[in-house]
Amino acid sequence: MRFIFDARLPRVRFGDGELARLPDEVSALGAKRVLVLCTPQQLEHAQRVSTLLGQQAVATFDQAVMHVPTETVADAIAVAERVDADLAVAIGGGSTIGLAKALALKRNLPFIAIPTTYAGSEMTPIYGLTEQGRKLTGRDPKVLARSVIYDPELSRELPIGLTVTSGLNAIAHAVEGMYASDGNPVISLMAEEGIRAMAVAIAGLVTAPSDPVFRSQALQGAWLCGTVLGNSGMGLHHKLCHTLGGSFNLPHAEVHSVILPHALAYNEPMVPDIAARIAAALGGAGTASSQLFALAKKAGAPLSLREIGMREADLDQATSLVFEQRYPNPRPLEELAIRKLLQRAFDGSPPL
Ligand code: NAD
Repeated sequence: MRFIFDARLPRVRFGDGELARLPDEVSALGAKRVLVLCTPQQLEHAQRVSTLLGQQAVATFDQAVMHVPTETVADAIAVAERVDADLAVAIGGGSTIGLAKALALKRNLPFIAIPTTYAGSEMTPIYGLTEQGRKLTGRDPKVLARSVIYDPELSRELPIGLTVTSGLNAIAHAVEGMYASDGNPVISLMAEEGIRAMAVAIAGLVTAPSDPVFRSQALQGAWLCGTVLGNSGMGLHHKLCHTLGGSFNLPHAEVHSVILPHALAYNEPMVPDIAARIAAALGGAGTASSQLFALAKKAGAPLSLREIGMREADLDQATSLVFEQRYPNPRPLEELAIRKLLQRAFDGSPPL
């Protein structure tokens, strides 16, 4: 075995009610003029942040949207410059945190992330920007959050549909981290524990959506899985999701839920020991891919690309797009097999 592990992680504060410690985190960074970021749907969360910060909060930008369009970034930069912000606080999911990353990238504005979904972006140096319908992604240490506050209370009201799909999105990071070409034993341990925690939490939250113990477990899972994403390269699954989400405008977390069992089934024969560890972490009987399909089904997640808006006529183009760029994956990409994989995912058939 040979590896380099150069972990760069944000500071983390975790626990019920920890949002109240935000002013301490802001002061520790020496900031005095905070720009609060949120989506239009989470203004209430942003108002809680502003109230907590009092005079330290100088403005709120509430127009964060999915995929970080450059026009939105330009609008947010204009507000940040007008109020002379020296820190951003992003409260929300991957879309809002993505906007904070764009400000960090373009204007060196540091930020604190307060995640309210399980997507995991707060732990990664990965950014995405969409210009004229094309999403570009990259890695840059500049876009790593200075500090992350995980407060499980904030996700208690996360709708169950998004809870499940964003939890499966997190599991996808851990699954691919376990067979990443640049992985290592510590990352694998985090991934296994992240999968275990998230699988238990998803199953529990389906019947008890506000349960504080399951919410806390899901957020711990998100933290671990996000850390894996930030510290290892991703393979076929993330490539497929990026292609489908970006080129056919499909919803992010739902695409991950549909594709994950199929992408894992494609790779399973090449990494039997890792697949067995993933299956054990999921805690049930059967292969890892079949367990993930069963978990998504039981939790009411979408199972087919058809039901989330994909057109069957686009499957051939999607297959070609996957081959546009080479990237590491345990099993070499075979065109016919990928086309079949996409067909099964389109139909909602169990993974092969
Ligand atoms: P999201 O941020 O798009 O949120 C979806 C909706 O749910 C939004 O309207 C949001 O306001 C709302 N919401 C969020 N938390 C809520 C809560 N607790 N209660 C009620 N409503 C709530 O969804 P997401 O899945 O977190 O993020 C998806 C985006 O994040 C994608 O663009 C994806 O590419 C990106 N992402 C990036 C990384 C990375 O490392 N760069 C990692 C994962 C995801």
